Amino acid sequence: MSWERQITIKSASELELMRQAGQINAEALAAARDAAHPGASTADLNAAAEDVLKKYGVYSPFKNYPGPYPYPASTNVSLNEELVHGIPNPKRKLKEGDIVSIDCGTVYEGFVADSAITVPVGKVSEEVAKLLEVTEGSLYAAIAQMVAGNHVGDVSHAVQEHVEDRGLQVTREYTGHGVGREMHEGPQLPNYGIPGRGMQLRVGMTIAIEPMVLIGSPFTRVLADQWTVVSRNGLPTAHYEHTVAVTETGPRILTLLANGASPGRIQLPRV
Ligand code: MG
Ligand code: MG
Repeated sequence: MSWERQITIKSASELELMRQAGQINAEALAAARDAAHPGASTADLNAAAEDVLKKYGVYSPFKNYPGPYPYPASTNVSLNEELVHGIPNPKRKLKEGDIVSIDCGTVYEGFVADSAITVPVGKVSEEVAKLLEVTEGSLYAAIAQMVAGNHVGDVSHAVQEHVEDRGLQVTREYTGHGVGREMHEGPQLPNYGIPGRGMQLRVGMTIAIEPMVLIGSPFTRVLADQWTVVSRNGLPTAHYEHTVAVTETGPRILTLLANGASPGRIQLPRV
C-alpha cells in the first residue's frame, strides 16, 4: 500500500508530542534562518539546524531518507531556482539578494514534525519579495481551511487560489502530506484542488501543508544529483510549510516557536 492511503488520527497526548517535535523543529529552522548571511554556505545553514537537534537529543527523518540514494543531510537547503530537496554543500555560498529555502524535520518521542521557510539573504528584488509574501500567505490561507468537515480540496484550493490570483504558479509535481509517526502519511495534499472534493477532514488529523510556488511556469526538473528539484525556467522559487492539526476548536499549527511565533517572515499566524 502506498503511503497516500495511510491516514492516522492522533489523540490529544499524541498531538502534544507532535507540538513538542514542532517546537524543536521551529527552533532549528530559526537557527538556520539566522545563519543565512552573505558568505555562509548551504552546509552552514544545515549545521546550524543540526546543532539545535543535537541539543535536544533528537534527529531529522530526512537523514538517510530513501530515494535514488539515501538523503545525506538533516535538512534540505535550496537556493533561488531550487524549489525543494537541495543538498547542503560547503561550496555553495549565499550572496546578497539570494533566497534560500530551508526544510527540516524532527522526530521526538516517535512523532514527526515537518516545516519549511524561505529566507531572503539581505535585500531582495521586489519580484522576489512578492514571491515570498504570496507563498507564505497561501500557507496561512490554507491553514484557515483546516477545519473538521472541510475537505482536502478546500485546503488545496486555498493555496492555488491565493497564489494564482496574485499571478504566480503552484507546482503540480510535489505535494503536502499527512504526518505523524511517519513523515509521509495520508492524505496527499496537492497545492491545487477543487473545493468540496477529496477526503473529509476529521479532528486529530495532522497534515504538512507546503505551498511550493514558481514564477511564470509551474514546471520543474531534477538535477544530476537526483535529489535537487529546480524550476525549469531557472526563475526563483519559494517554499513554506507548517505541520497543522485539525482540532475541536479549529486549526492548530504544531510547528511554532516557544513564543508562539513562526520561524518564517509572517510572525503572527492569522489563525
Ligand atoms: Mg518539509
Ligand atoms: Mg513535508
